[in-house]
Amino acid sequence: MKRLAILGSTGSIGQSTLDVVRAHPDRLRIVGLAAGTNADRLRDQAIEFKPSVIAMATDAGLHAVASAFRADRAVSGPAGLIAVATHPDVDIVICASSGTAGLEAVLAAIDAGKTIALANKEVLVMAGSLVTAAARARGVAILPVDSEHNAVHQCLHGRQNSEIARIILTASGGPFRELPAAALANVKPEDALRHPTWRMGRKITIDSATLMNKGLEVIEAHWLFDLPADKIDVVIHPQSVVHSMVELLDGSILAQLGGADMKLPIQYACSYPERWVAPVSRLDLTAIGRLDFQRPDLQRFPCLRLAYRALEAGPSHAVVLNAANEVAVASYLDEKISFVSIPRIIEQAMDAHSGEAVNTLDEVRALDAWARDYSQKLARELELKV
Ligand code: MG
Repeated sequence: MKRLAILGSTGSIGQSTLDVVRAHPDRLRIVGLAAGTNADRLRDQAIEFKPSVIAMATDAGLHAVASAFRADRAVSGPAGLIAVATHPDVDIVICASSGTAGLEAVLAAIDAGKTIALANKEVLVMAGSLVTAAARARGVAILPVDSEHNAVHQCLHGRQNSEIARIILTASGGPFRELPAAALANVKPEDALRHPTWRMGRKITIDSATLMNKGLEVIEAHWLFDLPADKIDVVIHPQSVVHSMVELLDGSILAQLGGADMKLPIQYACSYPERWVAPVSRLDLTAIGRLDFQRPDLQRFPCLRLAYRALEAGPSHAVVLNAANEVAVASYLDEKISFVSIPRIIEQAMDAHSGEAVNTLDEVRALDAWARDYSQKLARELELKV
């Protein structure tokens, strides 16, 4: 029996994780659930899975849940995430919550010797060296849940790093893959939120439309697989059937294929190194018929170029990239700035940063706060006049 804690249980990844647990009641058990603000959904989950510890972002929400369900412990705020992540009965922590609070909880889980199933790529973008160094020191495995990195992990099974020529991350290209540059200025959040192949949360769906999601994944891959930027390539693959590939020294390319269903990578992280029957539909290759691959267009989608720039410039630049992106995406979702202002804000924030040490959580936090402040100012200057 593997015992799980989920950070972000009411979000898209959290709910898919619970579907995996429902499919394997003899192998997986929920010990802790942490949610942001969705008290109704957390209450239903707590009644069904009877965790020992629950957490929510705010006290008010938590009282509503705790009155319907008696956990041994119910904790609010950042301390709640940490209480769930470090509960002594937990073997694997599914990290699907966002932001700096998520980062702290991941570091606490590593410190407590838990296996990390990582769905929150921002954790590695902000603090990849801190997190991977802590995991190495503690002998803790970080298993990627992000579908591309999960595919690479599957392809690399048993391979030496010295055998890798490069990894190739696939990208769907998002809803604006074929839209001319001039039309991008006028795309509305509701258009961007219509992703062609994946159903996901709002922030990551906008990131997919700008290709920043792939950019963040390039940085994530650097930390997970210890590869330099020039060994991490991106191809557009509109069908989202090949989840990513590894090219070996001899030119052989290994690929992992599957449906667009996060339950598969989530289950892989839970079952690893075993394989179990999964609650997902099987891939019908003849129904798919063809697989297309294209080069990404960095003129129309500068966010991918900016992510490579951040990776090459050093860890502090990735902190600025990530913070500026979160601010810009939030402003876009509020319909305050245009779609094409998102990369402008990120680039200007990066231009204003000359690099500094980010060797501690406090240094990461301070730089993150500066970049958010600075990006807010840029976003206000670019606000659409209605
Ligand atoms: Mg992904």
